[in-house]
Amino acid sequence: MTDSETKQEVKLQGVAAAPGVARGGAFVFLRNTPEIPRYIIPPERLNHEIQRFENALVNTRAQISQLRETVANRLGEAQAGIFDAHLLVLDDPALIDETLSSINGSMLNAEHCFHTVAEKYIAFFSKIEDEYFKERVVDIRDVSQRILHNLLGLSPRTLADLTNRRVIVAEDVTPSDTASLETGHVFAIITDAGNRTSHAVIMARSLRIPAVVALIDASKKIAPDDFLLVDGYAGIVYVNPSPETLSRYEELEREHDEFNRKVLRETDLPDLAADRRAFSLSANVCGAEDIDALKKYRANGVGLFRTEAVFIKNQSRIPDEETQLAAYRALVEGVAPATVVIRTLDIGGDKAHGALQASEHREENPFMGFRAIRFCLENKSVFRTQLRAVLRASAFGKTKIMFPMISSLDELLQAKAFLRQIEDELRAENIPFDEKIPVGAMIEIPAAAICAESLAEHADFFSIGTNDLVQYTLAVDRGNERIAHLYEPCNPAVLLLIRHIIVSAKKKNVPVSVCGELAGDPAFASLLFALGADSLSMTSGAIPEIRYLLRRTTSAELEQLVTQVYAETNPQKISAILKDFAVERLK
Ligand code: PEP
Ligand code: MG
Repeated sequence: MTDSETKQEVKLQGVAAAPGVARGGAFVFLRNTPEIPRYIIPPERLNHEIQRFENALVNTRAQISQLRETVANRLGEAQAGIFDAHLLVLDDPALIDETLSSINGSMLNAEHCFHTVAEKYIAFFSKIEDEYFKERVVDIRDVSQRILHNLLGLSPRTLADLTNRRVIVAEDVTPSDTASLETGHVFAIITDAGNRTSHAVIMARSLRIPAVVALIDASKKIAPDDFLLVDGYAGIVYVNPSPETLSRYEELEREHDEFNRKVLRETDLPDLAADRRAFSLSANVCGAEDIDALKKYRANGVGLFRTEAVFIKNQSRIPDEETQLAAYRALVEGVAPATVVIRTLDIGGDKAHGALQASEHREENPFMGFRAIRFCLENKSVFRTQLRAVLRASAFGKTKIMFPMISSLDELLQAKAFLRQIEDELRAENIPFDEKIPVGAMIEIPAAAICAESLAEHADFFSIGTNDLVQYTLAVDRGNERIAHLYEPCNPAVLLLIRHIIVSAKKKNVPVSVCGELAGDPAFASLLFALGADSLSMTSGAIPEIRYLLRRTTSAELEQLVTQVYAETNPQKISAILKDFAVERLK
């Protein structure tokens, strides 16, 4: 941030996204495709230019091999396979030889020649309507970006390249970035973009890494040698913090540690409110790697398995039935005898997938676009493979299926009809699955919320996705930092919809859970419990605090809370009522 000898402290205010305090050196991660320079090479420098290109290839090979090894150790051989395809691109004589003859023939610099050749191949393969070539395009793009970064001497291109512990500073982080992160290498994540419910942030929270988002231009202000203090509770980042700030934070961290110890002491106490009304807290997970945390905090099973995480880990391949079955089964068996709610693929929005979406046009409004159930109903072979894997996993433990982004009864009925078709297929093949597997709908679009009663006639359960419900109700993109201040769950419209969904579900005796971030937010958990939510599903790390809080509530107090909240129309006042209620009980 400054070149001077003694660096001044600078305080940046963003949005608190994942709790915790962390400090460490900055790792500034800029994803944007670099500017490709074009210049003439003097004849006497030609050999040097070719050597430079060859060095970039050698370095790229070493980086990919290293990444391959890391991913194989962490996620297994199947996931590491993508890097074999990348290594093959490096061996491709067409790409490499053509670049070399282009440098020789044109006397232009290596970056320009390589970029031109790579783009020619990408354009050529992109036109071919075939899965194999779509995957090649993703591979070539990835590898060529890496080669260009090496030629230009730029910082590494993926977060998986981070090899020692730092604070990640980025314009934005995607779910695939977080999926490839070696968590032991990250103190914290701070980004210019995003808000609390961006998917990358949700993943950071499940990895228990502090995060601050919506910092607007932090990645431009922070230099790689800056030291950072990240306060994930208040959404503050101190660049080159003063000794006073550091010691103030030591005190604050002691208080947080004390608080965490206090709530953790109740982990083994029953999930009963002060007047013995039962509550149920389950976990939101991305895969079997979350089982340890879920057990540690004693979650009552999995309320939301975001299966897209299984897809996102490998951008160039669509996981086949066996790969998916292994992922789902590991979780179902690991969580047994408790239940796992498996949500079908919710790709799109802020969760991109190279191979799945390679042929799709860029969308102007991805969150309002070709996402989740809409994508699956039009990509039946992808949907079929997933449903087969989920149904097969249901033979190994209690499983429920849930469809995301349901916006109408027709959509729910179409998804269910297709599921029945897949069940018939499995029956004909004598493949076992749970014949009574419950099928539910996520209620996260206002249209579904308003029509919840008719949907309830066709659903075995509901799960309220508040992250999306808030964004669609208020027309506030959940990932857009410029309007993060407008993402207001205390807006009465949101609260009225949530109450309407729960009342509608109750009328039809359909159990309803809440799996958006509000479920694990102490300010909202009591209200959701008070409204009659049958279970709250959240990142495992949030469970001890919510357990501690709900154990200190009574029905009479909760009823009063509901009356107070719904009598108020001002979001700030509602927020204050909810926060006071939580703070009182968390003391
Ligand atoms: C939600 O929208 O609240 C939800 C739980 O789903 P996701 O965050 O994955 O969109
Ligand atoms: Mg959602």
